[in-house]
Amino acid sequence: MSLHYGQKLLSIPGPSVIPDRVLNAMHRNNPNIYEGELVDIVSGIIPDLKHLAKTDSDVAIYISNGHGAWEAALTNVLSKGDKVLVLGTGLFAQRWGKLGKSLGLIIDLLDFGKQSSVDPAQITEHLLADKNHQIKAILMVQTDTASSVRNDVDAVGRVIKSMAHPALFMVDCIASLGTEKFLMDDWNVDIMVAASQKGLMLPAGISFVYINNRAKAARERKESVSSYWDWKPRLEASRFSELFCGTAPTHHLFGLREALNIILHEEGLEAVWARHQVFARCVWAAVEAWGSSGRMYLNIEDPEKRSCAVTAISTASGDAGYLRKWTEDVAGVTLGVGLGMASPNSPEYENFFRIGHMGHVNVPMVMGTLGAIDAGLKANNIDHGPNGLAAASAVIAHG
Ligand SMILES: *Cc1c(COP(=O)(O)O)cnc(C)c1O
Repeated sequence: MSLHYGQKLLSIPGPSVIPDRVLNAMHRNNPNIYEGELVDIVSGIIPDLKHLAKTDSDVAIYISNGHGAWEAALTNVLSKGDKVLVLGTGLFAQRWGKLGKSLGLIIDLLDFGKQSSVDPAQITEHLLADKNHQIKAILMVQTDTASSVRNDVDAVGRVIKSMAHPALFMVDCIASLGTEKFLMDDWNVDIMVAASQKGLMLPAGISFVYINNRAKAARERKESVSSYWDWKPRLEASRFSELFCGTAPTHHLFGLREALNIILHEEGLEAVWARHQVFARCVWAAVEAWGSSGRMYLNIEDPEKRSCAVTAISTASGDAGYLRKWTEDVAGVTLGVGLGMASPNSPEYENFFRIGHMGHVNVPMVMGTLGAIDAGLKANNIDHGPNGLAAASAVIAHG
């Protein structure tokens, strides 16, 4: 029997669900790319993007996924042979570092493992040892979408600032912008990168690089940057086409305008953060109840260190694989694969799964995902504790 006819639900941690309103805003023919509506839309989008990150910094928009934003951030301010400190908490900071390595940067990895957040004390120690200021940049993710850890950006920013270390502080908010509190200026972040397909509820394809004055000064010290990735012409554009180094990503911009209307001008950014917290706690409550017997547990033990956008879950051997297959084939709910916890070729790969709860999610979506998992546990005879759904619903009822 199959029960999946009806609206299918994508509960993976990116790309996330696109609201119908955003889809509809994109469903139109190509516009004039030289003047008129599109130009006006972009001049309204820029201040909204700044508001999203609580910053007065500049922001450049690239036609790329998150990897492009990673490259833009590095290539504008760093040169071959520069040393970069990478703060690993799962997968994504390491991947950013790997991209840096391909650009000729020297990667110094401080790895905090897959189950904990960065430790500011260890960072202090590491920077103290860097007496000649060889480290030119520090790379961190706010939310590591693989481990589902949330790092304390504020704490790391304070460490760097209090030591007066000149390294640029670069933060990846690809999974966290629009889901999680983020204050770029207050938290002393020099460069922040984000992308369209997670908290911003769009398809993948545009990305954002936020650049403060320290970062702009570092760009001035570089002789040359590839004219596509160079952020200077994008920030100083006198013609509209210079903003995007060619044709604008027209439909992404129409979609983004609508998404920002929803996030900033209807729901409100603080309310968006609060909603993500409720749904995250709802998911944690269910998993904790299921894990009260059996062998299912949340990858990140400390609630203070858990992401509000994604939850990584560990199960007994192979159970996550059976569960994912069942929820997708029978129930119409797609869960995320475990990422970075085990090699995709190893049997352990099927011990992990992730639930995305970012962006356009509400009670029926989150409870629907949890309900499908609850049924999947039963259908597959996976040992689990009772009352997972009751625990989740209590969080929704009582906050
Ligand atoms: C999704 C994600 C990326 C990668 O983004 P792409 O658009 O796939 O290049 C990088 N960092 C984090 C934290 C992510 O969640």
